[in-house]
Amino acid sequence: PVDRMPEIQEARLRLPVLAEEQVIMEAVRENPCIVLCGETGSGKTTQMPQFLYEAGYASGKGIIGITEPRRVAAVSMSQRVAMEMNLPTQVVSYQIRYEGNVTTDTKIKFMTDGVLLKEIQKDFLLQHYSVIIIDEAHERSVYTDILIGLLSRIVPLRNKKGLPMKLIIMSATLRVEDFTDNKKLFPSPPPVIKVDARQFPVSIHFNKRTPMEDYVGEIFHKTCKIHRMLPPGGILVFLTGQAEVHDVCRRLRKAFPFRRSTTDTGKEEETFKDTRRFKKDKQKQAVALPRIHLDNYSALPVDEGDEDQLAGVDDDECGYEGCELDLGEDEDEKADPSIPLYVLPLYSLLAPEQQAKVFQASPAGTRLCVVATNVAETSLTIPGIKYVVDCGRVKKRYYDRVTGVSSFKVSWTSQASANQRAGRAGRTEPGHCYRLFSSAVFGDFSEFSEAEITRRPVEDLVLQMKDLNIDKVVNFPFPTAPSGEALMAAEQLLVSLGALEEPPHIERAKLSCPVTPLGRAMASFPVAPRFAKMLALGRQQDCLPYVIAVVASMTVREIFEDLERPAASEDESSKLAQNKARLMQMRRLWAGQGPSLLLGDLMVLLGAVGACEYAGCTPQFCETNGLRYKAMVEIRRLRGQLTNAVNAVCSEGGVFVDSKMAPPTESQVICLRQILLAGLGDHLARRIREEEILDPKWKNGYKTPLLDDPVFIHPSSALFKKPPEPPSIAVSNREGLWIPQLLPQYCHYGPP
Ligand code: ADP
Ligand code: MG
Repeated sequence: PVDRMPEIQEARLRLPVLAEEQVIMEAVRENPCIVLCGETGSGKTTQMPQFLYEAGYASGKGIIGITEPRRVAAVSMSQRVAMEMNLPTQVVSYQIRYEGNVTTDTKIKFMTDGVLLKEIQKDFLLQHYSVIIIDEAHERSVYTDILIGLLSRIVPLRNKKGLPMKLIIMSATLRVEDFTDNKKLFPSPPPVIKVDARQFPVSIHFNKRTPMEDYVGEIFHKTCKIHRMLPPGGILVFLTGQAEVHDVCRRLRKAFPFRRSTTDTGKEEETFKDTRRFKKDKQKQAVALPRIHLDNYSALPVDEGDEDQLAGVDDDECGYEGCELDLGEDEDEKADPSIPLYVLPLYSLLAPEQQAKVFQASPAGTRLCVVATNVAETSLTIPGIKYVVDCGRVKKRYYDRVTGVSSFKVSWTSQASANQRAGRAGRTEPGHCYRLFSSAVFGDFSEFSEAEITRRPVEDLVLQMKDLNIDKVVNFPFPTAPSGEALMAAEQLLVSLGALEEPPHIERAKLSCPVTPLGRAMASFPVAPRFAKMLALGRQQDCLPYVIAVVASMTVREIFEDLERPAASEDESSKLAQNKARLMQMRRLWAGQGPSLLLGDLMVLLGAVGACEYAGCTPQFCETNGLRYKAMVEIRRLRGQLTNAVNAVCSEGGVFVDSKMAPPTESQVICLRQILLAGLGDHLARRIREEEILDPKWKNGYKTPLLDDPVFIHPSSALFKKPPEPPSIAVSNREGLWIPQLLPQYCHYGPP
């Protein structure tokens, strides 16, 4: 029995899924697999594990597993569920790539989808679990898709063995045909249970014009206007990335400053109310607006300008061209402390305690304004949001099909995503969504976001599948199959890395090469195949600790603070400028001298990790040296994890993590270079030759094997100022010598 606090119990009863508990649990009892659909905030993530727990699914040998595509969600949801159930985190726990609090007492385990995939490798039948919940299936993350494919086979196998297991697929949208109408995946389609969420009407306000240049500035002005003109209610702003989020936060805080000490009194609240200049009659109108079905936008209440509560003061009216825009800008940049705004950033790299702030009540007398990336789209529900401001864009990782080099690009989101974002405004009362684009532009958005698996290279997945002895990956029951081209490229890369057996006959054997012993070792490392290859080679000349440190730092996102980051204040701005020169110098120092330079930016990573560990990996050290503390802690954990993984594969290894790791010797540097190149062979470039220069801008360019145009060293690279000499030892091919410093993140196409 679960002993919940009365106020929690009360809050639960208001959640739409609670009304469906009987129906859901009956379907679970009667079917091996079900699909549960419900709007974000309807209670799927927090309540489904509790239903299962109370129905006894964790009282036998097996536990309840629930996967999330994002780490943020795995951690915060496990904490929330533990709190709601009044159970310790030893019982309701989480496991993400580097950390977790799982114990032998754990009954409900939240984890990232990647973690569960690794567990399937260890025990294909997942005997530890009595039920697996795949959450946020609508996001169509690659691991989610693969897990559903694998579980579609595992569940019947378990039932045949007399160890029944349940699968629950949860989605925030109704678009689940890829799972249900897919005979290859589920020969008899699983039942779909739809939870009717209490969704209040959200009126959509399109812009007449679509700002292409300074959409961040437009977002800022729109948010200012909402805060000045409209009745109380939280504002949720959607932007594409961390830098934009900080920029808008800074400008909003400046425009509507609030001091905690003065706003904690009731008096301030009064002033706040009095100074708000909204029109009361307009407020009433809002309630009568039509109800919008978020999954079916065929009948859009298009109200470009006319029904806009901001009419008369809104940019829509003057079409961004008139003088009003300038006036507005001046007004917005001026500080107005009479209407304080409580501005919070939200993005996935933000420290967890900062992220948690959005769930807490905002200080009395202030309006909450969360400036977020698309993490706020479906996985986290922020209470009290009445206004959504949507830039309509999303930052996505794109892969160059030719080079496999990835980069982040901002592009239009899908109609489905934009509607999800709009829906965030109608959770507690009727809301408003301000879209910074016209309805015509919206009409051109793709209807749904593509499944991630169709947009990225799949060599890691192919290797994992081969290791599970799924040789014919083409026959795998993918909810959406990757292109034949992508599968082929993956197979070729894996063969070239030695992870798969070379096909005796390319044509005949294509796409079904079995895994090699090296491939199996590589598959056991929790990193991409090219990095796994480096680890597998790392034993020579005692290089392994260095290889581990480099691989760990290459697979963690953003180890360096962004030196180009917009400052939060004037003060910070001058501090940043001073810092920048010093931090660049630091990076050059880490790059080393003499032979170390042969490792280029990889040596900078190694130097940074070494120096940081030597100093005890403290937040202070990271701050003064321009390193992201969260990333450094992740690297430390990953080093431990990779060291264990390597020792497990090779018992006589005995490698350990040395916090006082000495810099590599000259011969180690040379050896390291070869090892690292073995994984990055297709990412190398050589200096452009005189006769190849077709454009004067190409002078400092480098040629890669796969591109016609040259690439350039990024200004943030330690090698930018002093490009490397052709190295004494190099991997050579038909074209001559190659240099190793062009990591994907330091390449960009076109002269800087
Ligand atoms: P779904 O998974 O269907 O999107 P959730 O189970 O995540 O819904 O959320 C249900 C409700 O619980 C939401 O209304 C949300 O506001 C609330 N909630 C979730 N996490 C927290 C939290 N950490 N603090 C306060 N409320 C929360
Ligand atoms: Mg959820």
